[in-house]
Amino acid sequence: MDFKILDKLLAGERPYRLKQVNKAIFKDLLTNWDDTTNLPLELRSMLSRQFPLSIDGRIIDSRESDSVKAIIRIDGDMLIETVLMQHKTGRNTVCVSSQIGCALDCLFCQTGKLGYRRDLDPSEIIMQVLFFQRYLKSRGSSISNIVFMGMGEPFLNYDNVLEAVRSINNHEKFEIGARHISISTAGLPEKIKLFADEKIQVNLAVSLNAPNDELRSRIMPLNQKHKIPELMESVKYYIKRTNRKVMFEYVLIDGLNDSDEIAKELVDLLKGILCLVNLIPYNGEPPLKSPPKIRTGAFKNILQENGLNVTQRSRFGSDIKSACGQLVFGEERSEG
Ligand code: SF4
Repeated sequence: MDFKILDKLLAGERPYRLKQVNKAIFKDLLTNWDDTTNLPLELRSMLSRQFPLSIDGRIIDSRESDSVKAIIRIDGDMLIETVLMQHKTGRNTVCVSSQIGCALDCLFCQTGKLGYRRDLDPSEIIMQVLFFQRYLKSRGSSISNIVFMGMGEPFLNYDNVLEAVRSINNHEKFEIGARHISISTAGLPEKIKLFADEKIQVNLAVSLNAPNDELRSRIMPLNQKHKIPELMESVKYYIKRTNRKVMFEYVLIDGLNDSDEIAKELVDLLKGILCLVNLIPYNGEPPLKSPPKIRTGAFKNILQENGLNVTQRSRFGSDIKSACGQLVFGEERSEG
């Protein structure tokens, strides 16, 4: 499914035809052009041949939580992982991937262990959203939120991610409000500034994980190049330009970044910044471990007592390897 090809195929058509085609794909969520009774037969058969609506994907259900992982095949042998999180409030959040693999090798992340394979193009990102929109439609529901927190660093694939975001937001396509879309970055200061200058109200999340350069460089090698002062300067620029709150994600790892002293350092770093801290107890493979609940609670209390806004991410899908930092290319295990 390559939307650039679709644009070329429809180049000579009247605008209302384009609207009909978009409606068939994004609103009616059809999987077969033969079901588009308002399109001429000739156009339908041409689209069936050159822009088939099928997506080669399969679902892996989580028994432990309300998250569902999809594995979507592209290019014959490349696999993308995408996760749907179904919240008790009725919110349906899809966590999309922006790259296959990732070059940044964060300590807690399985995707990083694979290294970088390639960027996903806008169609491959859109396809992940389409897959779950169809899945939810068959259950009488729909996607409410999109987060770019799957495989890859979105800002290392900036143009393709932004193009996909515009389609996700487009009223003729998925029509998901910009405020319901979040991009999470490991912290590329130049791209954060560029993003601040975009005229789009998409949320920004920054994966922080440590309040000082020594510790952050151990957890996130990217920090050796872009140190915390440079990162914070770009975040402040973003807030000044957009007047929007930034979410700092903080993966809590037992004995590494979860002490009272570190919590106090984090308070000093973030005090006065328009932000929300999202604590995510590590839920991946050993040897790293999640802190005991009492430690997570103590860490959270220090932040809150010192005036920071804090949330704690609920556990989603660790049994299907779909929790934060666990999406890996090509895993075909633990089905159903
Ligand atoms: S956490 Fe994100 S940026 Fe870090 S290695 Fe994993 S996918 Fe890449």
